[in-house]
Amino acid sequence: MKRLIPLLFLAGCYSELPHNYEFEKRQYTSNEIKVTLVEHNSYAEVRKAYTDYTKKPAPRTLIAFSEINPKFCIVHTIKPEIDFQPKYVGHEIAHCFYGQWHPSSEAK
Ligand SMILES: [Zn+2]
Repeated sequence: MKRLIPLLFLAGCYSELPHNYEFEKRQYTSNEIKVTLVEHNSYAEVRKAYTDYTKKPAPRTLIAFSEINPKFCIVHTIKPEIDFQPKYVGHEIAHCFYGQWHPSSEAK
């Protein structure tokens, strides 16, 4: 039986960077994609989810991240009732459609 390994990338986005990220280049284009939103109760929870997923410490300035794949995408961000930041959600959804579109600003 052939085992399929999903193509999966990570996009972590940081509050310390200017939010006006430049669109550098698309990693892929996916016009139809399944998106799952995971809402967290705090930025500490967002960072914990990042660490659980990557097995690496999360930068203190991490505010959202996405598990991205051309077929499905999982966006992690804070609940809007706690800190309404639609620009973060939009930024992460752009990762779902284009992959890592700001590679020079990705996690080091
Ligand atoms: Zn980003």
